Amino acid sequence: MELLSLQRQNAPRARPTAPTSRLAQAIEAMRQHREPGVRNTARAIDSGEVHLMYLEDCPIAETGEGYIVRVNPRTGERIVLGGEITSAIAGQRGQYILVSRLVHPSALIPAIVHEVNHLMRIDGGRSMADESGFPRYRDEFQAYWVEASITGAPDPDAIRRTILHDYPALHRSYVARPDFRAQVDQWRRPDTNILNSPAWARVERAVYLGTVDHSDETIRRLILSLTPSDRAELRGQDNFMRMLRSRLPGPLGDLALRLMSQ
Ligand SMILES: [Zn+2]
Repeated sequence: MELLSLQRQNAPRARPTAPTSRLAQAIEAMRQHREPGVRNTARAIDSGEVHLMYLEDCPIAETGEGYIVRVNPRTGERIVLGGEITSAIAGQRGQYILVSRLVHPSALIPAIVHEVNHLMRIDGGRSMADESGFPRYRDEFQAYWVEASITGAPDPDAIRRTILHDYPALHRSYVARPDFRAQVDQWRRPDTNILNSPAWARVERAVYLGTVDHSDETIRRLILSLTPSDRAELRGQDNFMRMLRSRLPGPLGDLALRLMSQ
């Protein structure tokens, strides 16, 4: 997964590319999936919050040493890739998951779930631009955790090994920097939205980015904007409930938690 600054430049004429059968089949299977995180991923796509397209449908604008610049045909935005076969793009003109036609059908759903998890981050995954920093590790850890949850209980040691093996810049930090290594070794749990829940992401953005003024009325409106089934899903989530409690201290936090239980 790669995410870099995107600039609009020499946009080619848009060539809308509807998801063709394999992607459409994957989304259909995701809608019916037993895991809530997979169903939520399908919801994010169905709602238009996240667009899904084939990597190969983004024409190559430029190639260089170790990178390829592609252009999103729908938005004209440039996408800088380093050889990934899946990618999450939080652009100025929408959020996109790019998936290569090379991805085996059996790996499509985990790949889409993983990439959507990056976009569910409060910054849309932008902190990942530093390939060697701890935020990158943290975000990958959670994305792999969510991906692994599709088939069973995630193993934090296996996730660490996978990341250090697959991300050379993180591996270099791990070897060279004792502080980074200690952080990585102590990081055993994901920190935020492990359900790919658009409702979770919406509440998180509201309380962190100040789109609610933290009055009783706005908190009430925010929490009650969640459907009863979203509230039921989220109140069992430690990360979500801790986020409410830490961002909305005192009586506002009490109010939020009370509304969550309705
Ligand atoms: Zn990733």
